[in-house]
Amino acid sequence: MDEHYDVIVIGGGPGGYVAAIRCAQLGLKTACIDAQANAQGQLSLGGTCLNVGCIPSKALLDSSENFERLNGQFKKHGIHADNISIDIAKMMERKDKIVAKLTSGISQLFKANKVDTFHGRGKLLKDRVVEIYDPNGKLQNTLRSDHVILAPGSTPVKLPDIPYNHETVVDSTDALAFDHVPLRLGIIGAGVIGLELGSVWRRLGSQVVIVEALDNFLTAADQDIAREAMRHFKRQGLDIRLGATVTKVSPTDDGMLLEYCQGDQTHELNVDRVIVAVGRAPATAGLLAPECGVNLEARGFIEVDGNCRTAAEHVWAVGDAVRGPMLAHKSSEEGVAVAELIASEMVGSTKVKAHLAEFNTVPWVIYTDPEIAWVGQTEAQLTEQNIPILTGSFPFAATGRALAMEEPVGMVKMIAHRTTDRLLGVHMIGPHVSELIAECVMAMEYHASAEDLARTIHAHPTLSEAVHEAALAVANRAIHKAPNSRVR
Ligand code: FAD
Ligand code: NAD
Repeated sequence: MDEHYDVIVIGGGPGGYVAAIRCAQLGLKTACIDAQANAQGQLSLGGTCLNVGCIPSKALLDSSENFERLNGQFKKHGIHADNISIDIAKMMERKDKIVAKLTSGISQLFKANKVDTFHGRGKLLKDRVVEIYDPNGKLQNTLRSDHVILAPGSTPVKLPDIPYNHETVVDSTDALAFDHVPLRLGIIGAGVIGLELGSVWRRLGSQVVIVEALDNFLTAADQDIAREAMRHFKRQGLDIRLGATVTKVSPTDDGMLLEYCQGDQTHELNVDRVIVAVGRAPATAGLLAPECGVNLEARGFIEVDGNCRTAAEHVWAVGDAVRGPMLAHKSSEEGVAVAELIASEMVGSTKVKAHLAEFNTVPWVIYTDPEIAWVGQTEAQLTEQNIPILTGSFPFAATGRALAMEEPVGMVKMIAHRTTDRLLGVHMIGPHVSELIAECVMAMEYHASAEDLARTIHAHPTLSEAVHEAALAVANRAIHKAPNSRVR
């Protein structure tokens, strides 16, 4: 007889594996099916994030940042080094070891929590029957479940008519495994991946040109931060061409030719390699039998309500494959919440966080140098809604810690409601803002005001003093800068 579970999770990325662990913690008999394999063909849990996303990209960002610092920035500290070189094979080996450690760690967590694991491709049929197929498309197993959580994640958007070949024309996955530093690197898309991977290879010596279709840079970020970012990236040598749509990529005797239009002008760019980073799409191919009852939205995302319920009874969906930001922590948060909603239905658990479609306190981080981070709404979004605001900003250059670190770049910009003073958004660019944003996420979760942050003691000398001073600046009373807060 087919094995029966309380919950089957399809997909073992940050949405799926976290959901599975939380289900098991809540006493539910849980299985997780995942298709991802490592170079040896073995199951490698953790999804895009651990295998070919967040973790390997951050490993390379750290290696390349160390290389760049040793190559130049450390001189200001009086630290000199000769004959600096980078061993790309060693750098990749370090990255692969981190990935292997983390992915095997998820397998151990599954064992410790008694989550049954199946390696293969899951397909949802009617009434929560799930079939599992091997890579050759052969049916391996059939399971049944009271609840199913779909967490298939996403895959890179493929541009039509682009000659992908895993070597000279690649997506982000291949770009994390180059075996040498390309001399001339073209990147299509100045989004998060284009900027992060462009930074990695530029720091290691590539001449990087990023071709972006939109006229504006980093449209999701507050434009004060985007402008500051553009200034730094240009100074570093990242050549970002806006309003530029790629029309053709073709091989030449000397590498690849990238053709693009900017206005009514056509341009040609000769490069050695091309990375295509134009977004990601939900990975639902082969996941759903027509009779399973789950609907897809027009753009292919799995249709869910505010609490991640699909149209099929007791079938849920989380993560990149549903609406909202495509971020690991958003996927995990949905995974936990759905596990708790299921447990509340099945065993009466009381710990439930509902209203998942509220993304206002999901932090965003771009791991460039300087880093970029934000939470909440931008000034442009608030202005468009006619919400009265006050803003306060503070530059890292005016903090002792950033100067001591030799990183006096960027700023914190805080936006509060003009009459209630409630925090509506915090936007940062500068050193370690990936860590500093957490305080502001917490403040916004607790519906804090700018005054609450202004009255909170921040250790001296720390980078967090810039957050404190920006909060003070909202009321035009920052201590370490001249009063000039803008009033709207
Ligand atoms: P995924 O991580 O995509 O996992 C889905 C899993 O399901 C995969 O293992 C897939 O093989 C499996 N699967 C799919 N279909 C089936 C099926 N039918 N049967 C069985 N298994 C199936 N986000 C951040 O928050 N921070 C970052 O720094 C960051 N950096 C990134 C860098 C890069 C280069 C990329 C590409 C992405 C990055 N992201 C980052 C995004 C992040 O990786 C995703 O938001 C996150 O992985 C989504 O989690 P998920 O569980 O929804 O899906
Ligand atoms: P993205 O949506 O961030 O950026 C894609 C860019 O490509 C856009 O600016 C778009 O205008 C541009 N573009 C699209 N078609 C184009 C064309 N034909 N020619 C030129 N430009 C074109 O997507 P991404 O960078 O591929 O990343 C995908 C997702 O992965 C992100 O949205 C993010 O959610 C996630 N991610 C997050 C992090 C992080 O949190 N630090 C890092 C990497 C990826």
